[in-house]
Amino acid sequence: MNLITCHIMEEMESFIMKKEKKQTLRKRWGCCHTIAGLLLSGVLLSMASGAAVTSAQDEAFLISEISDDLFLRMNGSSWKEECPVSREDLRLLHVLHKDAEGNTLEGEMIVHERIAEDVLQILQELYEADYPIEKMRLVEEYDAEDELSMEDNNTSAFNFRYIPRSGKISKHGLGLAVDINPLYNPYIRYADGTRYLEPLTAEAWLDREAEFPYKIEEDDLCCRLFKEHGFEWGGDWINLKDYQHFEVPDEVMAEWGM
Ligand SMILES: [Zn+2]
Repeated sequence: MNLITCHIMEEMESFIMKKEKKQTLRKRWGCCHTIAGLLLSGVLLSMASGAAVTSAQDEAFLISEISDDLFLRMNGSSWKEECPVSREDLRLLHVLHKDAEGNTLEGEMIVHERIAEDVLQILQELYEADYPIEKMRLVEEYDAEDELSMEDNNTSAFNFRYIPRSGKISKHGLGLAVDINPLYNPYIRYADGTRYLEPLTAEAWLDREAEFPYKIEEDDLCCRLFKEHGFEWGGDWINLKDYQHFEVPDEVMAEWGM
């Protein structure tokens, strides 16, 4: 095989890998794609499909390590000393998303390296399908206060915290859960005659039969994509509902030794 043939074979292989979007969390390789790798696969995809150059859109969807500057902002805020995942375990995602009016916005989110590629693919597919996500800012902008972030309908993932009233670390505290459009997709639980609603301002969106923007439903694209990638949806839970919430199932975490 000469060099040119070899090169074409490599391009086709990359193209096929890029097309393998149905990989679940279980099958996914443990490593994270680097920015360079992502850009390269974008270039190869463009070449394989006959396009001249990588689109600016592909370059907007990036995974990077946590920089010194970013970690300075996170330390003592979303990341705390007792956090079992290290800075090296986490990744910053940079994406584009569209709000309900169709405006294109830049978004950032921090997740565990194990799910970075999956979440990036999901967010890119949602963007390409005009699925509305209103805001995607780092929780540092809300002093890592989940309630404030949710009330502002901010989509986010990593934020070290314990599950209220349980003492157990939330999967958000490990970067293994994502909340989408949380104000319109609240958490609701009844226990011992008490109602727990998060965010507290989400009363108007508890009626899941009503029609309103940003509502996550079982058969909508957001829900389908997260499930295809192996995530569990809080809207499927019986004892409580957490319509905004997608997480790595316990059994997958166990396989990962977490
Ligand atoms: Zn959540």
